[in-house]
Amino acid sequence: MSAKADYVARQLQTRSHHCHWPGCDAQVPPAKWGCKRHWFALPPQIRAKIWNAFRPGQEVDQRPSRQYVEAAREAQSWIAAHLAKKSEGPKQGSLF
Ligand SMILES: [Zn+2]
Repeated sequence: MSAKADYVARQLQTRSHHCHWPGCDAQVPPAKWGCKRHWFALPPQIRAKIWNAFRPGQEVDQRPSRQYVEAAREAQSWIAAHLAKKSEGPKQGSLF
């Protein structure tokens, strides 16, 4: 395990901070982007970008790098596109 992975794994819920997935209010430690379920719902390349840009301590001093902010923004636009695509699909109700 890398030092960074170790650091993130040790972080606790030090303040109110929720998952960044729109509409998800699961509480996650500030060092983490989101809850397990939504983190793994992101494509691996976006997860890698967020992970690589994350600097241990940024969640404390609240000064993420520009790369981190860009990666987080990319995640949000991916989610928006992903949710839009999903809602275009067949409606559950039409099965019955
Ligand atoms: Zn979530």
